[in-house]
Amino acid sequence: MTLPFSIQAQAGPARLARIHTAHGDVETPAFMPCGTAGTVKAVSQDILEDLGAQIILGNTYHLYLRPGHELVRKLGGLHRFMSWDRALLTDSGGFQVFSLSELRKVKEEGVSFRSHLDGTSHLFTPERSMEIQIALGADIVMAFDECTEHPAERERARESMEMTLRWAKRSKDYFEAHKHEVPWGDPGIRPSGHRDIPPQPAQERRGPGTLDIGSSEELTVGNPTFSAENSEGIRKPEPPTAPALFGIVQGGMYADLRRESAERTIELDFPGYAIGGLSVGESRAKTMEMIAAVLELLPKDKPRYVMGVGYPEEIVQYAAMGVDMMDCVLPTRAARHGLLFTSEGRINIKNARYAQDQGPADPKCSCRVCARYTRAYLRHLFVSAEPLAGVLNTVHNLAYYLDTMRSVRHAITLGDLSGMLSGSVSLT
Ligand SMILES: [Zn+2]
Repeated sequence: MTLPFSIQAQAGPARLARIHTAHGDVETPAFMPCGTAGTVKAVSQDILEDLGAQIILGNTYHLYLRPGHELVRKLGGLHRFMSWDRALLTDSGGFQVFSLSELRKVKEEGVSFRSHLDGTSHLFTPERSMEIQIALGADIVMAFDECTEHPAERERARESMEMTLRWAKRSKDYFEAHKHEVPWGDPGIRPSGHRDIPPQPAQERRGPGTLDIGSSEELTVGNPTFSAENSEGIRKPEPPTAPALFGIVQGGMYADLRRESAERTIELDFPGYAIGGLSVGESRAKTMEMIAAVLELLPKDKPRYVMGVGYPEEIVQYAAMGVDMMDCVLPTRAARHGLLFTSEGRINIKNARYAQDQGPADPKCSCRVCARYTRAYLRHLFVSAEPLAGVLNTVHNLAYYLDTMRSVRHAITLGDLSGMLSGSVSLT
């Protein structure tokens, strides 16, 4: 079993589940903070742990260019290099090539491009992307795909989708032959040599009103191998010994192409599926229509990941539709621009109205920033361009996103997400 996935509760199409990785369990629905270049910008790993992040992203394109995947492999893989013992997912590098690099040229073999850092020439192919992601040692590796530009004519979207399908097959062939080459070593050993206690972030920090989630009704799908019963008598699947490769559904903004892409990607048989090429400038209604079309077809016993979304109210909505994983640079990027997500809506902390505001960023937030600092101080830091502004704003925004997902998971255990969905309107 490459990636055991245990569904514990359902509320309509929404699922509460656990992904069992070699670097700990990930409770889903999950929001995954973006750790672009081996760091979630402005936040240290111990704070991410404290916030309850169980999985973060690394960007293949950035890490390949700097410091280089071979260096990371030599230093024991990305987990050890960045001192992150929990789960990691790497993207394929495709999206950044399309969005950041200059003079890119797409051909059957792959994408040639010039680095945005120094102008040097490079070629990403499906095989190369797999080689890099395996060298980085992610728990979840993404197939190399072409993120179709928006808008795209139907024929162009079809061609792009066909290319992604051919690249998915090549990604899988290379991945299966090389997946055991990950530089994992013993994931329980930190560089200092002490053995870490397996992470149990859900019990470290909880948002208001959350409960322990009983796992007595846990159903692990996909016939995984079970290890011995733990102290609660619950059998836990053996952690995987190799990473898992997810396929990516494309198809532009055409529901029938999306469905065809889903069906043909499923035929290639991946342990999880992503929906890519969304949040590229289309309306939110269109994003939702594409997600709904694909979710109908994706296997219910495997994780389903929507890439690059979204605002807080969106991630609640997509989780309610049955999406298990999401990622977005929004909470971290917005934080560095002084935009804070709160239970009272978005606030721009540089606004003069906060100059003497003695309240916390969000009165309903229990994060370390809201517990300690005032809006007046956060505003002062931001307008003074103090580096601490980015740190504190990012910590709060990530806490807000992770708490939102924690509340979603709690609502699923209660069998009712309607309160979250109506409540989320005020977040816009
Ligand atoms: Zn906060």
